[in-house]
Amino acid sequence: MPTLTAKYWEPLEGGKVKCTLCPRECTIPPRGKGFCLVRQNKDRKLVTTVYSEITSANYDPVEKKPLYHFHPGRVIFSIGTNGCNLDCKSCQNWEIARQDTPHIRQVFTPEMAVEYAGKYDSVGIAYTYNDPIIWFEFVKDTAEKVKEAGLKNVMVTNGNINIDALRELLPLIDAFNVDLKGMDREYYLKFSSFPNPNVWKVCEEIKKAGKHLELTKLIVPGFDEFTPEYFERFAKWVAENLGREVPMHYSRFFPAYKLLNTPPTPVEVIDMAYDVSKEYLYYVYVGNVIEPERESTYCPKCGTLLVRRVGYNTEVLFTPDGKCPECGRPVDFVF
Ligand code: SF4
Ligand SMILES: [Zn+2]
Repeated sequence: MPTLTAKYWEPLEGGKVKCTLCPRECTIPPRGKGFCLVRQNKDRKLVTTVYSEITSANYDPVEKKPLYHFHPGRVIFSIGTNGCNLDCKSCQNWEIARQDTPHIRQVFTPEMAVEYAGKYDSVGIAYTYNDPIIWFEFVKDTAEKVKEAGLKNVMVTNGNINIDALRELLPLIDAFNVDLKGMDREYYLKFSSFPNPNVWKVCEEIKKAGKHLELTKLIVPGFDEFTPEYFERFAKWVAENLGREVPMHYSRFFPAYKLLNTPPTPVEVIDMAYDVSKEYLYYVYVGNVIEPERESTYCPKCGTLLVRRVGYNTEVLFTPDGKCPECGRPVDFVF
């Protein structure tokens, strides 16, 4: 297993090290590893054990990230490794995220990644599947090369990264989908075993930097309240702190990982979240349900259909110069 000295750590007494990449700030004893499994104390230094190693690679529709307002209808070369700084109870990708010896892990250098990123009309690279925060060194090196090649970088992330590290990545990353688990610390502790989230501040920093941001919220029975007031809180916070134009994706839960006996979210709850949030936000979408009307984009000014989506089929209906064909309002899309 090749290793590389990591960034963002400090030495402690007794040969321990403290990782300062994410708010968890693990203290790691000699030969131990952090919560994310892939940052280890080797000879009193913090090393990454997943630099240049991937577990997953695919050409995915950009919509699958999900990013609905970023180069609609295109594909993006998507890669991930293993490890994660959270342990969410319904993780879809726990086999790579919460195991440090997944059965498939292949060598993949930044140079190789860039070569694949430019094929098949791909927009660039999405760092996804597990959380790219814990892959910081590889993501940064690769993202620099992707940018040099004139392509785009996308991070699909839980968003809990310390601000210094975020600021090092921000100039390189063009778009983020942040998976917002909840609106308070208790939710993160209960659902993700994460005591000190800073995702809300990270979202504000992303917007301040002028980067494209979309949010995903998985609605989980037993963890989320099924009331209009509850979803109003999400939508209001996004509108007031990030902007009404930030797309919000509400996703239906299906049994997975540690929640195999929890039933799927009732579709009516997803619809309620959509309806309530539309009062505050311009663009709200549903995920993991088949409702093309609630997966499509409408002009916030006149209601004209701007992008029709049926599953991952995308039909762009706004003008080539990015305006509503009916009222001429500029669309909130990166394309
Ligand atoms: S990145 Fe990993 S090792 Fe570092 S603080 Fe977060 S969970 Fe711990
Ligand atoms: Zn319009």
